[in-house]
Formats: sequence, structure tokens, C-alpha cells
Amino acid sequence: MDADIERILLSHDQIQARVRAMAGEMAEVYAGSEQGLTIVPILSGSIIFLADLIRDLPLKMKIAMVQVSSYPGTATTSQQLEMKSDLGQGLAGRDVLLLDDILDSGNTIRHVQKLIRAREPASLRTAVLLRKPAKAPPDVPVDFVGFDIEDAFVVGYGLDFDDHYRNYPHIGVLRPEMSS
Ligand code: 5GP
Ligand code: MG
Repeated sequence: MDADIERILLSHDQIQARVRAMAGEMAEVYAGSEQGLTIVPILSGSIIFLADLIRDLPLKMKIAMVQVSSYPGTATTSQQLEMKSDLGQGLAGRDVLLLDDILDSGNTIRHVQKLIRAREPASLRTAVLLRKPAKAPPDVPVDFVGFDIEDAFVVGYGLDFDDHYRNYPHIGVLRPEMSS
């Protein structure tokens, strides 16, 4: 895999430290939650982020996964949203924390935020590991951000290209010839 990566933007150690700090911020925010916390991770990109984050979050929680894909197959620019699973019941009255790997155009998160709000949670907050500020739209509120990054196509730590590289431990920029 290393040979396919042009350069590393964030090392595994940097990511781990930041995820631990984010868990600390969240633990404070949700310490007084009486409704109970439900984490809604957007699959598949947030799986590694989810797994690391929740083990640093000493709170009672439920996990309700949703699968949305805006980059089907080998596309590296946003395509039409494809919703592969639906949110179950049970978000009403809960403190909901939506989790995604990256905020790019914001279409994915905007869409899922709307679906969650329709289920009348007690609160809705959103956490993303990465944000591309060059594009992040002002109408998509996010409460927790791991890192602001440049506008490049990145892979690793859950982020894929054509479903590859999710297990790459760092976050790096893919060699352009790998996605052409
Ligand atoms: P948005 O809807 O905000 O444009 O895009 C969000 C989704 O697109 C993310 O959940 C992620 O799956 C995918 N995405 C956006 N930018 C990147 C990127 O740089 N690398 C990868 N691997 N996926 C991305
Ligand atoms: Mg995704």
C-alpha cells in the first residue's frame, strides 16, 4: 500500500492523539446526558474512527449505523447519494451524535442530519474526523472536527478509494495515477 501513497498528511500517532482529545471534548459535553447517547456512524468510512473513538468514550451508548455512499466505486468527486440502509426507530428523545470520516461538499451530512432531525432526537451534534474547509458549506453545522485538511483526495484510517486502503493506518494522499 505504501507505494500507492504520494505523501502522508497525518500519521497514525497524530490521529490517535487527536481522536483521544475529541473523546475528551465529547465526554464533557455528554456527561450530564439524561436521555442517553446514540452514536450514528456513517458507514463505511467512519469505522476506524468509530472504533477508536468509542473506546476512549466512557459513556453508556447505543450505536445505530447508516450506510450512505456518495463516491461509488472509483469516483473521486461527489456523485449522487446512495442510501444503502435506513435509520431504525429509536432516535426519538435521544442525544444523537452523527459521526463521519470527512466533510467535503457536505451533501452526505446534510442529508443524514435531515433524516435524523425528522426522528425528533433530544439533541443532534455532528463529529467529523476531517474537514476540507475549502469546500465545507456554512449550512451544515459540525460540532467536533478532528483536522482541517487541504483539498486533496485522501485515503487511510477508514477512508477508501474503490474500497481499498481503509486499513492503511495513516491518512495520506493517493498517487494521482492510482485513481485515473
Ligand atoms: P460530501 O458529501 O461531504 O461531499 O462527502 C462526504 C463523503 O465523501 C465522505 O463520507 C467520504 O466517504 C467521501 N469523501 C469525501 N472526500 C473524500 C476524500 O478525500 N477521500 C475519500 N476516500 N473519501 C472522501
Ligand atoms: Mg463515506
